[in-house]
Amino acid sequence: MNKKAFNPFEMAQRQLDDAAAVLQLDPAVHELLRWPLRELHVTLPVKMDDGTTRIFHGFRVQYNDARGPNKGGIRFHSGETVDLVRALAAWMTWKCAVVDIPLGGGKGGIICDPKSLSAGELERLSRAYIRQVGRILGLEKDVPAPDVYTTPQIMAWMMDEYAFMQGYNEYGMITGKPLALGGSAGRGDATARGGMYCLREAAKALNLELKGATAAIQGYGNAGSFAHKLGVELFGLKVVAVSDSRGGIYNPDGLDFAKVSAHKAKTGSVIDFPGSKCISNEDLLELDVTVLIPAALENAINEDNADRVRARIIVELANGPTTPEADQILHDKGSYVIPDFLCNAGGVTVSYFEMVQNAYDYYWEECVVHERLEKKMTSAFWAVHNAAQQHRVHNRLGAYLVAVNRVAEAVRLRGWA
Ligand code: NAD
Repeated sequence: MNKKAFNPFEMAQRQLDDAAAVLQLDPAVHELLRWPLRELHVTLPVKMDDGTTRIFHGFRVQYNDARGPNKGGIRFHSGETVDLVRALAAWMTWKCAVVDIPLGGGKGGIICDPKSLSAGELERLSRAYIRQVGRILGLEKDVPAPDVYTTPQIMAWMMDEYAFMQGYNEYGMITGKPLALGGSAGRGDATARGGMYCLREAAKALNLELKGATAAIQGYGNAGSFAHKLGVELFGLKVVAVSDSRGGIYNPDGLDFAKVSAHKAKTGSVIDFPGSKCISNEDLLELDVTVLIPAALENAINEDNADRVRARIIVELANGPTTPEADQILHDKGSYVIPDFLCNAGGVTVSYFEMVQNAYDYYWEECVVHERLEKKMTSAFWAVHNAAQQHRVHNRLGAYLVAVNRVAEAVRLRGWA
């Protein structure tokens, strides 16, 4: 599978097929789990600041709700395709199952370049999306959240539009909201924090010291920048390289989180950070570091570069950063991959906590959120690690075995297949 032909949904289906073979899944259950149960394609007219109307296209995919309401983020990206949204919705299904929260999988997206839109245009686009998709959303049906280039402010607009449609507030219809509007303490850094708990457990499994260990991070948004902060704070990692869509920076003595963040806030990018050397996103992946954290987009590690990846542990905060071919290459080389839908499940876990708090209208302190997140992530990590060891397969397949088994059980018990 070269970069040009990359289809994330085909990749997600192939990953499921591998798990189905090991689990000897009933053929009807297997076929059912290969496809989204339903999807909505929407066309969105939006008034632009210059008085013209532009037409945008978007999707909401509800992959499988056998274990509970669908759950999954909304992405604003020019490269969005329905197959990408389907793949992400499938991965959400496995993600909720692997951390054992009572939710199914969904995903949404709008094809747009959010950086070229004003705040007013973004608000009108967000509200237009909810006017179309709102009819299939709700606390008991499908609950979106932020993802690539969507923010707590966008969640607030979407929640508000939905409240107008219903005639009452339903905070729990969307998560990742600002604290003042029913958000949860601890949601901001939850994805990176969950990944860091997995990294801590992986280091235990490998008998590896994290203090002073080198790390490189691709992507410096919510997931990547908090991984930098928490990796240093919790374990004393030495983060030697980080990058964003404009390129990367490298300093073998380590990069200071507060200074790099301030530089990015001021200039819009990590590049040209004083005292660092410029590197490309491709070179960053091949650095001789102990920990590599892909935290940007899918298909970063593929058959073209996997054999040049030198990190001992790969912490997949991004969704779908490694192709199946690359998985096998990394496994054969002895790299330890913490697979995406386990590694980045901290976000959806705290989103689930947010839904629970919204339903009870009673809010937890941040330390309670951290403690409950840590418990969920740690037990999910060992379930996956043990399944991979037991079946002598790579960790991603181990994660699929745990997750698919749980979803298949719910499908069977409901009598769907
Ligand atoms: P974000 O929008 O906050 O940040 C994305 C970052 O990636 C930005 O720094 C951007 O510059 C960078 N980027 C974009 N294209 C790039 C490229 N080609 N090379 C290098 N960097 C590039 O998004 P996020 O929320 O941090 O999400 C990042 C990844 O983590 C995505 O795959 C997302 O699906 C996944 N994820 C995020 C969450 C969450 O709670 N935020 C949860 C689960 C998974």
